[in-house]
Amino acid sequence: MDQNRTSGRLYSQQRRKLFMKLTANITLDELTKSQIAERKGINNNPSPEQIENLKALAVNILQPIRSHFDKPLIISSGFRCAQLCIEIGSSINSQHVADDEAAAADFEIPSVDNRELAKWIRANLEVDQGILEFYKDGEPSSGWIHCSYSRNSNRQQWLRAQRVDGKVQYTPWIGE
Ligand SMILES: [Zn+2]
Repeated sequence: MDQNRTSGRLYSQQRRKLFMKLTANITLDELTKSQIAERKGINNNPSPEQIENLKALAVNILQPIRSHFDKPLIISSGFRCAQLCIEIGSSINSQHVADDEAAAADFEIPSVDNRELAKWIRANLEVDQGILEFYKDGEPSSGWIHCSYSRNSNRQQWLRAQRVDGKVQYTPWIGE
């Protein structure tokens, strides 16, 4: 067997797998692509179990948002393999790693106020953890939303992350 042809075929099979649709509007590619992984040559491909966790996130959170607002979601970061976490200084215990039956993504909808979007999710969907990240009052497009979903049980925990004196502070987010 020609080694190059074999590995070429494996590569295209992997890519095809990534373009797999998880729901009507969300692909696995959107949840795994990373410019840093690409630049550093890190293989950010999830295992079958991690794909199941990402799919549960897409089915239960991302697609319902997409369907309700009827606008594309911009996913800035979904799955991060451990090596990618280390590279970007993210915790390897982050739910972005998509282990332990859970997965997380950071996203926004360009024309929707991030706080209004987070409030809609909080009122309508089950999440393990939601974070309104670095939103500045009076700047609708500032920051983004982090949401995780667990196939096991969901805590419905909502936090707001803000930078205070150069440090990231997480506080419970229950009101506005
Ligand atoms: Zn995140």
